[in-house]
Amino acid sequence: MKIAKKNELFTKPGTTIVNKTGAWRVYYPIVDHEICIGCGTCDRVCPEGVCFKTDQKNSKGLTFYDRDLDFCKGCGLCAKECPVKAISMHFEEK
Ligand code: SF4
Ligand code: SF4
Repeated sequence: MKIAKKNELFTKPGTTIVNKTGAWRVYYPIVDHEICIGCGTCDRVCPEGVCFKTDQKNSKGLTFYDRDLDFCKGCGLCAKECPVKAISMHFEEK
């Protein structure tokens, strides 16, 4: 596994891709696949680059997005920007 250099942790977006975040995250996002319209906004705004297009379709025939929770930091940007409110933030039970 690649280890981030000291300055990469704060100066480059997407660097938590090499650091699992689950231990300190307070909230995590859940995508309602039936509401998702596959617009890709969450993918564009996620500072960690952990939102991705799946290869599955919902009942409306739309390809939906999901996120890699191992590397999500729980910032909530995806939920805030989703145009159809398909993403909800949930408290991380420890
Ligand atoms: S909460 Fe959303 S925008 Fe923030 S890191 Fe997690 S997936 Fe990305
Ligand atoms: S922003 Fe919302 S509707 Fe668009 S792909 Fe992401 S979850 Fe789906």
